[in-house]
Amino acid sequence: MNYSICYKKETITDMYIESLKKKLKKNGFVYNEEDPQYVFFLGGDGTFLRAVHKYVEKLDFIKFVGLNAGTLGFFLDYSTTEIDELISDVINNNLHLIKYPLLQGEIISKKETKTIYAVNEIRVESPCHSLVCDVAIDDHKLETFAGNGLIVASSLGSSAYNKSLGGAIIQHDLPLLELSEIAAIQNNAYRSLASSLIVGGDKKISLKGTFSDIIIGFDHEILKEEKKISEVRVILSDKHVNLMRKINHNYIDVLRKAFIIDKEM
Ligand code: NAP
Ligand code: MN
Repeated sequence: MNYSICYKKETITDMYIESLKKKLKKNGFVYNEEDPQYVFFLGGDGTFLRAVHKYVEKLDFIKFVGLNAGTLGFFLDYSTTEIDELISDVINNNLHLIKYPLLQGEIISKKETKTIYAVNEIRVESPCHSLVCDVAIDDHKLETFAGNGLIVASSLGSSAYNKSLGGAIIQHDLPLLELSEIAAIQNNAYRSLASSLIVGGDKKISLKGTFSDIIIGFDHEILKEEKKISEVRVILSDKHVNLMRKINHNYIDVLRKAFIIDKEM
């Protein structure tokens, strides 16, 4: 079995990586950064995002397995002290494979349409002057929004930036899209929903406007506007990420550990 490793250099030592590689080799795994069947990612949720983006062209063939180096993350079910348990679970197929759809964004300008993918969210932000755009769901106009920006989050991303904007947390395995506002202007000229909107995963969210100086953010990445963008469309993609989860993984336990109490008394 071919594998590769993605890790957060600030929290994982080279010594730890060496010992992981040795253990994997002993168990028949072959390091292959180009074409891995397994990607072990070590760090936090941000490390998962980086690992997925690194292999975004090869996601169909890869299973991701996470080892958490800090507090319990949303995508990392094992801690770095459970390395032996993890290897034995992988070898004995004692894990659940869960397929999560990615977000797909079409960034449309006169000249071209660019496609981007994201795990958490796709954002249109304008830090200097207000962004004005028409928001439509499946080509039905909802509003003309004005403010600092809008984000479309997946259920996976609902607990990240979306949560900071007051959006609801969505159970990870529900295929939905959530639209949230960033500092919306509400006055006699502009009026928007002023709350997050959750729609089905079969919907298309479109943001149309005469954009200038906007930033398109997707997970930890940024697409600086190069050409005049006239529309950003977001759907749930056919592209999936395969995440191997512990058999006893429970979403509510993860939520509790992340946001309510880190350690049980
Ligand atoms: P970061 O600035 O280190 O991430 C911010 C925090 O979000 C980190 O604590 C990260 O966890 C956590 N996080 C990432 N994905 C999450 C998820 N699906 N559910 C709950 N928490 C999550 O940047 P990053 O590590 O590169 O992550 C990029 C993400 O940061 C973006 O996709 C966006 O969602 C989020 N972000 C949030 C805000 C905000 O809340 N105001 C602003 C910018 C970006 P780890 O420490 O384990 O990596
Ligand atoms: Mn991070």
